[in-house]
Amino acid sequence: MRLSILTLNPGYFPGALDEGMIRIARQKGLLEVSVVAIRDFTTDRYGTTDDYPYGGGAGMVMKVEPIARAFESARRAAGPGAPHVLVTSPQGRRFTQAWARDLAREPSIAILCGRYRGIDERVIPILGAEEISIGDYVLSGGEPAALVIVDALARLLPGVLGDAESAEADSFSEPLLDAPVYTRPEECEGHRVPEVLLSGNHERIRLWRRREALRRTWNRRPDLLEGRELSDEDKRLLKEIKGEVAR
Ligand code: SAH
Repeated sequence: MRLSILTLNPGYFPGALDEGMIRIARQKGLLEVSVVAIRDFTTDRYGTTDDYPYGGGAGMVMKVEPIARAFESARRAAGPGAPHVLVTSPQGRRFTQAWARDLAREPSIAILCGRYRGIDERVIPILGAEEISIGDYVLSGGEPAALVIVDALARLLPGVLGDAESAEADSFSEPLLDAPVYTRPEECEGHRVPEVLLSGNHERIRLWRRREALRRTWNRRPDLLEGRELSDEDKRLLKEIKGEVAR
């Protein structure tokens, strides 16, 4: 995947793009990231990227032209094929694991980070962009949102995770929340690891994990279970869980 991040704050990204899963994806050649500084595409000597809003009011608005030029340069550098363009915005469609899976199949993506009061609305049709929100809160800039998106995508690229199963078992892949996990030692300040996990009995462990995943989902995110087709086993486990609470 080729990814371009268009930003007024390129200093935000070194470090974050050189760690963890994103670093691995880049090292394996599965992800190529370029951070494009919009300011490099200004034409006046002050490097102006923002201006006052038409109609007045507080806050500055990011101008169209430097963004359009930065995008054009990124597009040319990425070679043939139009990138899928995302504009970070609290007004966008909410980013989900399902959307991340769809995006992970794109060969080329560009993410535009907003600042100030936002971006001139005309950027959306000009770039053919889709607005994306990472949640119902307002950030001061789109850069942390871009990093959230890149991180979620990087680990889904085929070949990035060593153990293909471990992405499958994640919360929301199903979408059920994941069962709790433990590692050594067996006891920590009086808290013991559930005995079943030490039993070596794979079927008991599988059933326990399934039950705990259903329990967590039912307790914390019942909305994820609504309208969902459950297997006979899941129905039985869920009935047991609800029975435990009633007792
Ligand atoms: N006035 C705007 C908010 C501007 S916040 C409004 O009310 O819609 C400045 C920038 O931060 C935005 O342009 C966007 O790029 C980014 N941003 C803020 N909150 C975000 C969120 N929840 N998800 C994605 N990007 C966000």
